[in-house]
Amino acid sequence: MSELIKVEKRQVLQEKPDQASLTFGEVFTDYMLSFEYSQEKGWHDLKIIPYGPIELSPAAQSIHYGQSVFEGLKAYKHDGEVVLFRPEENFKRINQSLERLKMPQLDEELMLEGLKQLVDVERDWVPDGEGQSLYIRPIVFATQGVLGVHPSHNYKLLIILSPSGSYYGGDALKPTKIYVEDEYVRAVRGGVGFAKVAGNYAASLLAQANANGLGFDQVLWLDGVEQKYVEEVGSMNIFFVINGKVVTPKLNGSILPGITRKTVIELAKSLNYEVEERRISIDEVFELYHSGELEEVFGTGTAAVISPVGELQLKDEKIVINNNETGKVTQELYDHYTGIQSGKLDDPHGWRVEVPRY
Ligand SMILES: *Cc1c(COP(=O)(O)O)cnc(C)c1O
Repeated sequence: MSELIKVEKRQVLQEKPDQASLTFGEVFTDYMLSFEYSQEKGWHDLKIIPYGPIELSPAAQSIHYGQSVFEGLKAYKHDGEVVLFRPEENFKRINQSLERLKMPQLDEELMLEGLKQLVDVERDWVPDGEGQSLYIRPIVFATQGVLGVHPSHNYKLLIILSPSGSYYGGDALKPTKIYVEDEYVRAVRGGVGFAKVAGNYAASLLAQANANGLGFDQVLWLDGVEQKYVEEVGSMNIFFVINGKVVTPKLNGSILPGITRKTVIELAKSLNYEVEERRISIDEVFELYHSGELEEVFGTGTAAVISPVGELQLKDEKIVINNNETGKVTQELYDHYTGIQSGKLDDPHGWRVEVPRY
């Protein structure tokens, strides 16, 4: 499809923020993509409209019963061209999330085309400073205004765009302090842990706030059944470097299948690291630390990219990983990952998708 999507122009464009002061997710561009679903018409009325408040019934099913899913990806500017990073993976995953919440499927190709046209309209908003990008947030939520628990008959999709600096502000590779959560759990097998649904985040906030109160950046979630096996960190997947090997928990239905995770696995293999996806218990992690075999720990996710872990606290025991410094493997993966993303390095895997000028 190369047909142009209708753009409803806004009267006045916003002033763009100073690139040096960009934070994460606080400023939004002039336009957003909008798509409607009704039972009678299916998905219809795809258009680019001014960014702004939307009208929603107070009885909308998404607010009451949580039929709401989202995605997160980024666009980068390199040599004046704008590229997306593996965007087809995000639309594949949003369909898996939609399916799990009994919401209607999207045409993945059409969505990618719509996203490209939106980003083309907003290409001047894509920042080109170190570590900066245009963060892209697709959401789909139920809009039917009736009480009663059943799948909504109406939905809305929006894609909003936010020019952003690095996720943790300033220093992208500053090691984080992580609290191993041993009371609350994020997800259980058979539940919605593998899906990017809004409610998963609501369910994580109490533990996250408690950990923040104790001086930690994020929590490490353990499995929901035995609270024994490592699952993931906040909004990131987790990796361990053990005796030079790259190890990450195997996807099991309750772990979110991160696209950064998948990319890091492929990248590590292409850099000749041995990669293991397996169950790993938190006790094993601490034992490997004491035997000197745990070399590095890092998290992966679109927002933070690759984020070293400097401290892990389990109950009363704290371990300091790699002297609280960014490890060699973490740094190497980070450099390759961001190099390919931003266009500084070649892209042998074909992960970059250029946004054409329509
Ligand atoms: C989005 C997300 C991730 C990371 O996924 P990416 O595709 O790499 O951005 C990890 N864990 C959770 C819970 C998430 O929501």
